[in-house]
Amino acid sequence: MVINSLVRFAEDALTENARYEAEQMVMSALEISHTELVLHGRNRETTDVDFQAVGEMVERRKKGEPLQYILGECEFMSLDFYVESGVLIPRSDTETLVETVINAAAKDKKAEILDICTGSGCIGISLARFLPYAEVDLIDISDKAIEVASKNIIRNDVSDRVKVIKKDILNEYPDKQYDVVVSNPPYIETDVIDTLQATVKDFEPRLALDGGEDGLIFYRRIVSLADKIIRKNGVLAFEIGYNQGEAVKKLMEEKFTDVRVIQDLSGNNRVVIGILK
Ligand code: GLN
Repeated sequence: MVINSLVRFAEDALTENARYEAEQMVMSALEISHTELVLHGRNRETTDVDFQAVGEMVERRKKGEPLQYILGECEFMSLDFYVESGVLIPRSDTETLVETVINAAAKDKKAEILDICTGSGCIGISLARFLPYAEVDLIDISDKAIEVASKNIIRNDVSDRVKVIKKDILNEYPDKQYDVVVSNPPYIETDVIDTLQATVKDFEPRLALDGGEDGLIFYRRIVSLADKIIRKNGVLAFEIGYNQGEAVKKLMEEKFTDVRVIQDLSGNNRVVIGILK
């Protein structure tokens, strides 16, 4: 069957954004760009292997698995990240955190940056791409995160300035100080996780979501480590849940000045940033 028929086959079997998702699956299976799909859709023949590959993707999607895990790919800050089950899928909301840090960090000289709970590495790696003198350490407790972040360092061509280190921030911490510490830690209250949409709660890692009983465990811990891991006048920036702005601001105010809560593009509180006194 020709490319367009394969797209139609997938589209008919899918429900949400069926056309878009069908095209993405076919592009991924055939390793072609959208331009090639449009250009050759009517006449290029596909193989049984392509048909089988797309069929398997459709089946996974029908069971509710997020498209990004199926494609093994996700765009973030206009960069390309590899993702697989076991790391959180980068969210566009998180771009607000990255943009806030880009604006706050030194642009024309070296800045040492630490990304805590890095997951796919999307935050720290984007910072390295947008801040050409930055040197970035990524830490995470999960072996899968270390593996995925390592791939993304290579994929985004920043291996000379970005390192990934396995560390459990709740029980240990890096033995050096940074100019900027950034984190999008797990921040969902334990009891709320089961109320999240199925694509999230059934497929994304609980470890990356669970912020303890009140959702604030990681914020408390990282703020308590501030003097050890952040230089004086250094920056701490967190992503937060829409309802955590006041709580996290209050946690930070004892040690930090200029603490600000910043909204994402939907107008929800999304980032808290401050300068270490
Ligand atoms: N820092 C990663 C991200 O923003 C992972 C966050 C997490 O696991 N809570 O996608």
